[in-house]
Amino acid sequence: MPLSDQLQTALTRRRQLSFFRTLTLPRPNTADFSSNDFLSLSTNAELRTEFLSELQFAGDFPLGSGGSRLLDGNTPYTESLESRIATFLGAPCGLLFNSGFDANSGFFSCIPQPGDAVVYDELIHASVHEGMRLSRAAEKVKFLHNDVEDLCRVLQRVKQPGRNIFVAVEGLYSMDGDTAPLRKIVEAVENICQGTGHVVVDEAHSTGCFGPNGRGLTVSLGLEKRVFARLHTFGKSLASNGAIILCDPLVREYLINYARTLIFTTALGFPALASVKAAFAMLERGDTVPLQEKLHDNITCLHDGLKSLPSSGRLSILNPKQRDTPIVALLTDKPRDLAKWLQDGGYMVRPIVHPTVPKGKERVRVCLHSGNTISEIRGLVSRILTWVDVELRTEQVSEQSIF
Ligand code: PMP
Repeated sequence: MPLSDQLQTALTRRRQLSFFRTLTLPRPNTADFSSNDFLSLSTNAELRTEFLSELQFAGDFPLGSGGSRLLDGNTPYTESLESRIATFLGAPCGLLFNSGFDANSGFFSCIPQPGDAVVYDELIHASVHEGMRLSRAAEKVKFLHNDVEDLCRVLQRVKQPGRNIFVAVEGLYSMDGDTAPLRKIVEAVENICQGTGHVVVDEAHSTGCFGPNGRGLTVSLGLEKRVFARLHTFGKSLASNGAIILCDPLVREYLINYARTLIFTTALGFPALASVKAAFAMLERGDTVPLQEKLHDNITCLHDGLKSLPSSGRLSILNPKQRDTPIVALLTDKPRDLAKWLQDGGYMVRPIVHPTVPKGKERVRVCLHSGNTISEIRGLVSRILTWVDVELRTEQVSEQSIF
């Protein structure tokens, strides 16, 4: 079959085709309940000023890095930013990557050694799967999402003399909006693996939102010395791009020598580094603390509003007890209808459908931001409640018409 026919056939097999949405700027009359810009830093005037003055300050720096960090792409600016971020996040050292995807796929493709095992939460990000696909680890085994008992069972099963076990979890899960029971996970790994277990925490969504000055979940629990490595990304709360892996110097040196997503790619250029530096300068000074507090007020406001959600099969909150994260998943069997209804009302949310989430777990994902106003949140809640009301009444009418 010609290639074009094969590609066309593969596309027709897709239940839902992906496509780019083109967002006009500035975004007109829509309240953002969708992006990962949790601290609303992407439109923050202070950050913009800081970034522009950083660009000005180093006015004659080359714009492009000119190559991989192993060739021409490494400067004192790169190195001092990298160690400044690691120090701020309480780690012995760190290694910058061009993206979180590169960092996870590079790390998991090369750090687990032949014969080792990787045990991962079933909701772990695609970039970890990508790394595991390329890795020489002998076993890759999932455990049930956030289920420490299941993790213990898996650890007991894969444990072998001389084998390293890597346990991959996220600080805050992007689709379910819940945090990992990290302390229990670390304790379980320490007890069962006795020094051969290595917890790796992906803090992509928790960076900025959790911990002192946004240092993430691991620091907020004081576990930074008990985890093997952490990933922080800059593309979500920090309004930039790129990522850092925090680890010890030996792991850093190994990654520099073996992580192909670092070795064979052009390093971040000066403008990208300058924007990361500006964001971390704000975190260090504590300028984002009020934003973090406002975000948490907004989260409380949404949950308080949704208390009056009637208990019905039409709509429910996936993790009602988790009232401290900016991602709230609203389970519904009509995610597209609800999302469209909210979008038509001026509230940008996204439906998340199968195969991104399992059948029966389809949802509308609501992301809160520091920049959301209380009146936007109340408006969103009221529109959600109206939708549920209309749905319930339609249901009753159709039940009556059966009899
Ligand atoms: N890890 C997680 C948990 C993520 O959600 C993402 C981004 N969706 C990544 C890693 C990849 O980060 P980046 O966007 O910087 O490539």
